[in-house]
Amino acid sequence: MNETYKALVARRQDGKLAVGFEQLSASEIGDGDVEIAVEYSTLNYKDGLAMSDAVAIVQKEKLILGIDMAGTVVSSDNERFNIGDKVVLNGYGGSETHNGGYTQRLRTKGEYLVKLPAGISTRQAMAIGTAGYTAMLSVMRLERFGVVPESGVVLVTGASGGVGTVAISLLSALGYRVTASTGRVEETEFLKGLGATEVINRAELSEPGEMMQSTRWAAAVDSCGSHTLANVIAQLSYSGVVTACGLAQGLDLPGNMMPFALRNVSLLGVDSVHAPMPLREEAWRRLAKDLDMAKLEALTMDIPFDDVPAAAGKILQGQIRGRAVVKIA
Ligand code: NDP
Repeated sequence: MNETYKALVARRQDGKLAVGFEQLSASEIGDGDVEIAVEYSTLNYKDGLAMSDAVAIVQKEKLILGIDMAGTVVSSDNERFNIGDKVVLNGYGGSETHNGGYTQRLRTKGEYLVKLPAGISTRQAMAIGTAGYTAMLSVMRLERFGVVPESGVVLVTGASGGVGTVAISLLSALGYRVTASTGRVEETEFLKGLGATEVINRAELSEPGEMMQSTRWAAAVDSCGSHTLANVIAQLSYSGVVTACGLAQGLDLPGNMMPFALRNVSLLGVDSVHAPMPLREEAWRRLAKDLDMAKLEALTMDIPFDDVPAAAGKILQGQIRGRAVVKIA
């Protein structure tokens, strides 16, 4: 009997997106030179966006959803990979133009895969997921811009979310003083447990603000965009730096250029989807070295595969704390 594999599939018909579980045959699990028995996936904000179709992420008529997966190679025609290798897939158009990770079996191109460094299990890789790997890319971007713990306080916005919780954990392990901005002030002790020294209410940042404000931050990791990012820019110290990866508050950036011209501040974009392979490999090596795995466990919750469609709505409403792992195998 031919084996089939359970997958969460999006089908677009007459412009509408339908999402549901299907049993796929070996010929339906994707194209490429490496086949993976998927063990874990995860739920990111972008997975929520893809399933809700609020932003048209899915660009094919039929696609396996899920922007991340980690698993074991079961067959390979790629010289970089052998049977038994543990691998991770982040981005590269998964859930957009290529099949993604919500499937028991995936066939994809080896050039999209990173071998997991020793010290990170497939479950931990998905507890990190695209959100955590983007937090690492953000911290590396700050470092390359010369930010060091002695620079001063680093602000993390969207603090209780996926990017936010991992960014706090990483920055605190690296010796930075971190202020966390959250709409969930009831999570103050949780955020301090991850390493935040101070927690502020995101309402301080989320409303329209002055063009230039009192300086508060040497650097910041922002995943909210909109007024939050505009206010952070207006509050950066002289030569301060903020990374911008996300749009949890909104796509807009209603700011002004005064802080750039008068305070020498910098706004650094962070993209995880098309990050070049050497940068990805460095980010995963750094995660293995710098991320406290006990803190990672503390910020991770488990979601059964069957519950992913329901959880997608929750992450868009800011109701998922930290990171969500999905057990596939
Ligand atoms: P999460 O939903 O896990 O976290 C987002 C957090 O933002 C929420 O937990 C909440 O934190 C805060 N937030 C939610 N709504 C608002 C609002 N209206 N105003 C201000 N803050 C809000 O998402 P992720 O961490 O997975 O992703 C965060 C963003 O980064 C998303 O927009 C995502 O698309 C983007 N992203 C981009 C990547 C890239 O390659 N550029 C890669 C990964 C993510 P709290 O409750 O603490 O306030």
